[in-house]
Amino acid sequence: MEPTRHVPRRIRTLNRRSFLGVSLGSAAGLGAALSFAPELARARPIEPASGAASERATNVIFMVSDGMSFGTLTLAEIMKRVRDGKSTSWVQMWGMPGARRAVMRTASADSLVTDSSAASSSWGCGEHINNDAVNFTPDKRTPVPILVQAAQNGMATGLVTTTRITHATPAGFIANCPSRNAEDIIAEQIIQRGVDVALGGGSKYFPEKLLATRPNLRVLRTRADFEGLPPVGGGPIAPVLGIFEKSHLLYELDRGETDPPLADLARGALKRLERSPRGFVLQIEGGRVDHAAHANDAPSLVAEQLSFDRTLGAVLEWMQGRDDTLLIVTTDHGNANPGLTLYGPETYRGLERLAQAKHSFEWLFEQLGMKLTYDDAGAGTHLSEEDRVASVVREATGVQLERDELSAFIAALRGKHRELFAPMSGASSVLGSCLANHFGVGFISPNHTSDFVEVTAIGPGSGLIGPFIDNIDLHGVMTAAVRMAPARAI
Ligand SMILES: [Zn+2]
Repeated sequence: MEPTRHVPRRIRTLNRRSFLGVSLGSAAGLGAALSFAPELARARPIEPASGAASERATNVIFMVSDGMSFGTLTLAEIMKRVRDGKSTSWVQMWGMPGARRAVMRTASADSLVTDSSAASSSWGCGEHINNDAVNFTPDKRTPVPILVQAAQNGMATGLVTTTRITHATPAGFIANCPSRNAEDIIAEQIIQRGVDVALGGGSKYFPEKLLATRPNLRVLRTRADFEGLPPVGGGPIAPVLGIFEKSHLLYELDRGETDPPLADLARGALKRLERSPRGFVLQIEGGRVDHAAHANDAPSLVAEQLSFDRTLGAVLEWMQGRDDTLLIVTTDHGNANPGLTLYGPETYRGLERLAQAKHSFEWLFEQLGMKLTYDDAGAGTHLSEEDRVASVVREATGVQLERDELSAFIAALRGKHRELFAPMSGASSVLGSCLANHFGVGFISPNHTSDFVEVTAIGPGSGLIGPFIDNIDLHGVMTAAVRMAPARAI
């Protein structure tokens, strides 16, 4: 059987121009300085699977491990295998009957290296837009985001994340905004556009005055609130907004018993949304995978990815015995491209050390506090500055830094360290490089990368996904899978 028979030709193979993400012939108006101009791609809507009624999905679950280079997926898989003797849910999914895999291009309209808002918007509205914007095109149009379109189609909607709920990735499914940083406006749109279940962080963007505009909204602020949420009855789903931190939820390594784990949030959202008579669209994001990659923080990166993977396991468990749900699991872009780079037994010793880390770099830097350690020269402690830094690093990571590593890190904390590849001069990248000597995990930068990324999908509609796709193609896959009627302007 030809597995891609339902896929229109134009999304099966990217043409050369599109593949490169550059438009060689369009630079005239931009002056001679820029001979490779970013391409401005337009939506290429795909057709529904031809007449296959059984291919129709009722629900769509779109899972994003934000900023997940393939090396991150690999590290999580290796850690899971050496620690638990079994594969991650993501890798297990590859062997499931009917699972579809693709490689996805991630460039935005104005950059080969995308940011999360342009990437999420590409799925949210099916168009390439510029970095920093949210469903706001370079020519200032505001295409209807997929959750708004879903609601117009009578479907329920949900957003679940470990970042602020107003952050780029959830915003890409619900909001229109020229800047991802206008999170107060994105918060207003989340409220006004009526997301049924929204769970994450970001309470600072939801003042009481805003919450009062949606009187039937149940607001959850603590893990106890979340766990005490009564099940939905037979009627319409009462909307819920969980905002468990002022900003992002805590990193997995620092979370303790405070914030609810991502897997629980996903289960909670599914329990409500499954009551929708006309199906639902739910986005679930492991948002701090990206943050750990930016920080070159290997232990947190692995812990966040494994938390995302437990969430995927929970979703797959929910899907067992159902044939009505399209699940797409992917990432928006690579980030920092981590990888194990030691040979032989040293690899395992590195992993063992990495598995013993207790806290994130975020926690570590908070403990150091530039004011305490540098402006006040270690005031309040009898330890010398070096001892103080070494002990905090040891407490967080379990690693005793060597003397030359420690002095490089301290210089970086003071802004006085210089790597030849300049972006690696920041204090967290320098610490990440020092720890690479102990963990064996190296990073290429603290930034996103242009790498192609993994897409895995299962369920009705997944057959629409060709082997090599563009990020905007997934919008058409979702709307076609559930036969969503075209959006009305808002
Ligand atoms: Zn990022």
